Amino acid sequence: MRIVQKFGGTSVADIERIQAVAQRVKAEVDAGHQVAVVVSAMAGVTNQLIEYCGAASPMHDAREYDAVVSTGEQVTSGLLAMVLQSLGVQARSWLGWQIPINTDSVHGKARILSIDTNELISRLEDGQVAVVPGFQGLGEDNRITTLGRGGSDTTAVALAAALNADRCDIYTDVEGVYTTDPRIVPSARKLDKITYEEMLEMASLGARVLQTRSVELAMNHHVRLQVLSSFSTAPGTLVCDEDEIVEKEIVSGIAYSRDEAKLTLVGVEDRPGMAALIFGSLADASINVDMIVQNVSEDGSTDVTFTVGRADVDRAKQVVESDDAIVCREIRTDGQVVKVSVIGVGMRSHVGVAKTMFKALADKGINIEVISTSEIKVSVLISEEYAELALRSLHTAFGLDSE
Ligand code: ADP
Ligand code: ASP
Ligand code: MG
Repeated sequence: MRIVQKFGGTSVADIERIQAVAQRVKAEVDAGHQVAVVVSAMAGVTNQLIEYCGAASPMHDAREYDAVVSTGEQVTSGLLAMVLQSLGVQARSWLGWQIPINTDSVHGKARILSIDTNELISRLEDGQVAVVPGFQGLGEDNRITTLGRGGSDTTAVALAAALNADRCDIYTDVEGVYTTDPRIVPSARKLDKITYEEMLEMASLGARVLQTRSVELAMNHHVRLQVLSSFSTAPGTLVCDEDEIVEKEIVSGIAYSRDEAKLTLVGVEDRPGMAALIFGSLADASINVDMIVQNVSEDGSTDVTFTVGRADVDRAKQVVESDDAIVCREIRTDGQVVKVSVIGVGMRSHVGVAKTMFKALADKGINIEVISTSEIKVSVLISEEYAELALRSLHTAFGLDSE
């Protein structure tokens, strides 16, 4: 078999942890498998590097940001190759540009375009372990790029797809994908299996256990993806097609995101084309808008509320203010909000999920500010101070608590 193993930051946090990782790699090699390993930077290192960039120059060049923040992974890949060699395992590190992992040139958030696997495959076939730093690639501008926070997951899945691997094992610091973040809700339950679609929603709605892009790639290329702990030998969670899951829950998981801010344009002139103007201007400024509500108009004007990422709130306000064609009385902003979402493919065939959700929140006196739904999720925007209470109450209301 050909296997890709990925180890996250806490799994390679120090030399002792890297030695433990090397043992896991060796076990697969000893079992006769071809192994490519993707590693993250040591826990905390990427944050530190980002801080350095901010301190060096608040308006830094994105190409130099990538040159700096990609280095954490270079260190761990070299160290893991050394430790593997010391255990008698043939191993070699391969930086993104050496393979190369080709990406577009959107520095700081690049997408992988292709991976040249010729050399890697011949080495794997010779029994050599390839150690690949996650998170980095080579842009079309011939410079180092990075894939956005959590991007090592995407490196691993993209590499598994390119190598036609039989399995992609993502090792992290929890035992798999849980019904919700186990660090916030201790009664969260580990899922044996979750569908690609649900995992995609969970990831994009805030569960950072897998980067969203990695799930998208796994779904499109049918990569057999597993999430498990590098700290235990417990079985993990398999991310798979819906027909592999016999017992489907109505709600499989609950996600939350703190990266939300709300803007309300009060007293917007109510005429055709206004929404196109507002959201057109925001799109032109590359500001991503998520939830939107518009009230009915009574006196020819209406209120439009929408959410953007927290980092974009001031810029979004400026964009609206500076567009003379957008007429409104007042712009209010609120950065103290979170989005809580319940997710499950069972919702397609069951009614009443929204009702259960709204009642559970009402029982705790939690006000819902904005609602949005899709076929397999319901999301609500609430005040940040109620985030944990909401998560715990919904977890219980949907019968997800472990016994
Ligand atoms: P790594 O460094 O291994 O990539 P991350 O910190 O990126 O690890 O992701 C693992 C973390 O994701 C866990 O420690 C957990 O707190 C968080 N998390 C959020 N939602 C979930 C969930 N539904 N299931 C498991 N972990 C979750
Ligand atoms: N080190 C990078 C980050 O912290 C990539 C990763 O760990 O996935 O975002
Ligand atoms: Mg991660």
